Amino acid sequence: MSSYIEDFPILKQKVNDEQLVYLDNAATAQKPRAVVEAIMNYYYHDNANVHRGVHTLAERATKAFEDVRTKVAHFINAPSKDEIIYTKGTTESLNWVAASYGQTHVEAGDEIVISYMEHHSNLVPWQQLAQRTGAKLKYIDLQSDGQLDMDSVRHQITDKTVIVALAHASNVLGVVNPLAEIAKIAHQHGAVLVADGAQSTPHMKIDVQKLGVDFFAFSGHKLMAPTGIGILWGKSELLDDMPPLEFGGEMIDWVQLQETTFKKAPWKFEGGTQNIAGVVGLGAAIDYLEQIGMDNIQKHEHAVIQKVMPELQQIEGLTIYGPQEANKRTGVISFNLDNLHPHDVATALDMEGVAVRAGHHCAQPLMEYLNVPATARASFYLYNTLEDGQRLVEAIKATKEFFK
Ligand code: PLP
Repeated sequence: MSSYIEDFPILKQKVNDEQLVYLDNAATAQKPRAVVEAIMNYYYHDNANVHRGVHTLAERATKAFEDVRTKVAHFINAPSKDEIIYTKGTTESLNWVAASYGQTHVEAGDEIVISYMEHHSNLVPWQQLAQRTGAKLKYIDLQSDGQLDMDSVRHQITDKTVIVALAHASNVLGVVNPLAEIAKIAHQHGAVLVADGAQSTPHMKIDVQKLGVDFFAFSGHKLMAPTGIGILWGKSELLDDMPPLEFGGEMIDWVQLQETTFKKAPWKFEGGTQNIAGVVGLGAAIDYLEQIGMDNIQKHEHAVIQKVMPELQQIEGLTIYGPQEANKRTGVISFNLDNLHPHDVATALDMEGVAVRAGHHCAQPLMEYLNVPATARASFYLYNTLEDGQRLVEAIKATKEFFK
């Protein structure tokens, strides 16, 4: 794959006198010129509120807003654009499923099943729902290499299970969960499967129909769109029955003094003025990714990981969490070095111009499960090269020397 760095002005800077190597993509991705320019063009030429006006700008803005809905539907192979709901991001999408579907389907004694690897955004909403309803929150075990334990999947999902909610790809362990297989198990027990696609959607072709899931959530900012825009996809037969959560402008059909009727999905969930420029940016980001090709992006990231993993594994005192085989991993590598605190490691790497994240990665129960307070995490994207991988390896070696 050719280098895409020219498309990302932010990457062409020095940090601490070193050429920046940005490896914090699991937190948020950088934005190509095409996305920034699409947002600028929208504000310079088309800005208006959507759905409400008949003037030319309002019509243009509405068309842009609704066209991206169709684009997103194609991007994840959703059967209908009416199943695409704009949200702030994965967190809001998951909260809405918990609040709307959860509140109307979960009762005391029911079970909600998640796993130990979940991001807090796919854990706390379910915990809250369980507390509110008296349902039981159950956790699927992990194998020693961090992959989901399929025996535990079969054991934990029972006829009492109403909702199973799982990450498609982990933001810590670099694993991809076999959602299609788990969806079948969930459906055999009459449960729905909610997928947290925050870490998979930017890096691989998503086909919600092949995955067989019932809801799928992702964030725009992790796939090069701006912050503050995300997607909730749900099967129309489920969305149609779900109550809206935010009431007011835009989402209503008819308002009378004592009663209101609502629009149908997806609009009934989109109360108030939406993040229209964010939607435009999301559309440009999808165009950018699709022009490169999701399969090419995945192949490129695999090639970088195949090269970097063995080199990292040779560094004495470096512990990598998740599968050790490069071919079982995504571009997320969490690690600890000797008994250094990951914040010190990340600070030392930053001195070498290498940006990684350190902390619990919004997965405190997983940290407890792994028996570590925190980890450092390097995460790659399409603009990262083999040389970037090499810079990470060299910077970790330099850090080890520094703290010796
Ligand atoms: N789920 C996973 C697996 C994530 O990695 C993240 C973000 O890091 C989220 C959910 C939450 O995404 P957002 O903060 O964009 O809502």
